[in-house]
Formats: sequence, C-alpha cells, structure tokens
Amino acid sequence: MEPTTTIAITESLEHELNPWLAAEARFDEAANRLGLDEGIAKVLRTSQKELTVHIPVTLDDGRLEVFTGYRVQHSIARGPAKGGVRFAPDVTLDEIRALAAWMTWKCAVVNIPFGGAKGGVICDPKVLSDFELERITRRYTAEILPLIGPERDVPAPDMNTNDQTMAWIMDTYSMHVGRTVTAVVTGKPLDLGGSRGRPEATGRGCMIVTREALKRLGIDPTAARVVIQGFGNVGGMAAKLMARAGYKIVSIIEFDGAVFNPHGLDIPALMEHRKETGSIVGFSGAEAIDPAEAMFLECDVLMPAARENVVTSQNASRIRARILCEGANGPTTPVADEMLAANRVFVIPDILANAGGVTVSYFEWVQDRQGFFWNEDLVNQRLEEIMVENFGRVVDYAEKHSVNNRIAAYMLALDRVAFAIKLRGIYA
Ligand code: NAD
Repeated sequence: MEPTTTIAITESLEHELNPWLAAEARFDEAANRLGLDEGIAKVLRTSQKELTVHIPVTLDDGRLEVFTGYRVQHSIARGPAKGGVRFAPDVTLDEIRALAAWMTWKCAVVNIPFGGAKGGVICDPKVLSDFELERITRRYTAEILPLIGPERDVPAPDMNTNDQTMAWIMDTYSMHVGRTVTAVVTGKPLDLGGSRGRPEATGRGCMIVTREALKRLGIDPTAARVVIQGFGNVGGMAAKLMARAGYKIVSIIEFDGAVFNPHGLDIPALMEHRKETGSIVGFSGAEAIDPAEAMFLECDVLMPAARENVVTSQNASRIRARILCEGANGPTTPVADEMLAANRVFVIPDILANAGGVTVSYFEWVQDRQGFFWNEDLVNQRLEEIMVENFGRVVDYAEKHSVNNRIAAYMLALDRVAFAIKLRGIYA
C-alpha cells in the first residue's frame, strides 16, 4: 500500500504546485461567488487570439536554426493587450496562455485600461550571443507584427528579456511602419521613451500596499519588522525603499544564504556587499541564518519576491508574519491560502501587490503617446494614488463579501472585465 500513498501525495503536491491550476481554481471561485454569467465565464476562460510562429535565424557559426515563439492575447475588452515576452527553453503555449489571462486580471485589479497578453520564444539565452538574441527578437517581432501596436498589444520585458530587447522590438516595428513608434513596447531605455521610476515601480508598489495593510492592522510602519525573500529587482527595490522609509528589514533571503539583524539591516551596505562579492553571504553587518528557515521568522511583514510556490501546504502553518505581501507572481498555493487564513495572516495577493510595475508601464505608454515626459515625483505620486485606491477597494470588498483578499481581487477584476464585455456586447 505504501508506494500508492506516496504516489498519491506526490500527485496531489504536483497538482497543488501547478500555477495554471491555481489560477483556474481562483478564477472559478471568484466567478461562482460573483454569479458570473456562464457565457461570459466561457469567454474569459479562453484566450482571444493565439499566434504560433516559427522563426528561422542564422546563428553566429552560419547554421540556420528554427525557433518557435508565441504571442497570446487573452482579452482586449478593456483596452490594448499588455504583457511581457519571455525567452526560455521551457516556454510552452499553455504557460503563455495562463500568463496572458493573469495579465488581464492584474491590469483590471488596478483599473488601468489594458487587457492581457503574453509572449515567449523557446530558446536558451545562456547559450546565445547578443547578436543571435537580437536576430531572434527582430524576426519574432516581424512575425507577430500583425498583432502588436500601441493600440493593439504592447509587449514588455519578462524572464530573460530586458530594456535592450524592448529597444530592438521598438526599432523593428518602427522600421516596418516607416516611423518611430515608441509606445509599441514598455520597459524601454529612458533615452528611447522609457519612464522615470519604472525600475523601482514594482518594489515601490509593494511598499505602498504594505504600508496600507500595516495601517489597517494598526501597526506603526517604522516599528514593522520585515523579511524579504529575493534581493533582485522587486525585493531589492522594496528593501531599499522600505529601509529608507524607516521600516526594519530584519532578514533578506537569497537562494544561497540568508542574513539576519534584529535591529534592521543596512540595505545600501548589503547591496554594496553583493555588488562586490556577487552574494549576500558573508555580509558583516548581520548574522548568517539558514535560508530554508528564515521565512518562518516572527515578523510583521513577509515578502516573497523571488519565485512561485514558496508558501505551500508543506510550510504555510509555520509562517509567523502578520502580513504576507506577494511581490513575486504565484508564491502561494490555494491550499496554503486556506492555512494562512486560519492563522489570520493578512495576504496582499500578487495581482495587486506587484501591479506597480504594469501601472508604471501604463504611464510609460501614456507619456510616449503624448510625447511629453513626467518627472519622477509625478510618476511616483500617480502610482501611489492608484495603489492606495485599489488596495482599499480590494480590502473593503473582501470585508463586505466575507472572502479573502485574493478572491476579492479576482472578483473585482473579473467584474470589471465582464462589465466591459457586457457594455460592448458580442460582435457577430
Ligand atoms: P530578479 O531576477 O531580479 O530577482 C529575483 C531574486 O530572487 C534574485 O536575486 C534571485 O537570486 C533570488 N532567488 C531566486 N530563487 C530564490 C530562492 N529559491 N530563494 C531566495 N531567493 C531566490 O527577478 P524580479 O524581477 O525581482 O522578479 C521576482 C518575482 O517578481 C518574479 O516572480 C516575477 O515574476 C515577479 N514580478 C516582477 C516584476 C518586475 O517588475 N520585475 C513585476 C511583477 C512581478
């Protein structure tokens, strides 16, 4: 009997850790609670457009290789589709489909006028030169040209793509249409129409919603003890901004080690140490602790900002944070959600917590279309307004309808998208 039990546990854990099944479960729960029309639910369960492209590219050694890429638009009900392009060897159409839908909900929850999309190319950037990556990017752009455009679908960086990739996409698109169209992508270099404040935007958004949550729980932010997993774009920026605002960042967890200081880490010094040594390990201003255990430190705020599936049925009961602010996408499984709720952990769900990035991408698109650029203070002030307002809406909605914050966020998002579809009607 034992092997069968082991297989059953492994299968159920695999099921739990499947992010697409998790997104589906949350969609279904939100749709049921909203009493969403079955026809509309059917529309929203499917993507609107899916394009598969096969891209011939000459490699540096003269060989011709064919790469496969995708661009999926889940919904354009509320505006142009918006979503990143990732380059990775394990990209699948299923993954891109699910991520495109995720973008629809994320844009809707912060009420910005975009739908959801995602793209990807199956390739291994680690073994490709910059020239090869440029040729892949340009040919991929040429192949998805019929779908993209400032009023159609606006790509952005995602896994293994960056501002340089966006510059190549912008240039290729512009060459095809015969004029410079900066608003076709976001996440561009500042000199090509990028927005001030974009690199900090996701971390800043996390800080804003965390502060709002602390206020709701009656905790003084400057007395708050914060643990952050991941010291990259999101976690590093959040740590820097929160430390500057007076929060005590007591622990930073990376894949190769964790550091702890009960009085608060000196974040600029830790960043400097990482720059010099390539790791947070060995930082003199802190005690080294086991990275596998650091997530369970007693604290006011735990911010997973590294990767998906870090809070699961296997460990959720050990979390001793008052607030879980999801900087990463999909860090918590649906089973873990229930366990956190039982322990009265206040969860700020990913589609809200890390939406600061797409919000400033929206600002970038607006500035490009206006040809008029904002200073950083204005970007930050408008980001603040959007995050505060929609945090309030989600949490009030959760209280009013007695659901957790995640389901409330999904319900608000679904309702906004469904309402747009109803207003527009179904074209036939
Ligand atoms: P990043 O690569 O800049 O940083 C991730 C950091 O996490 C790295 O320092 C990495 O070493 C660390 N890390 C990896 N595995 C780890 C582990 N097991 N334990 C501890 N640390 C680990 O990536 P990012 O842009 O900061 O993205 C982080 C998460 O936030 C991802 O889930 C991403 O999808 C999500 N996100 C990012 C943005 C954005 O604007 N960058 C926006 C929305 C959501």
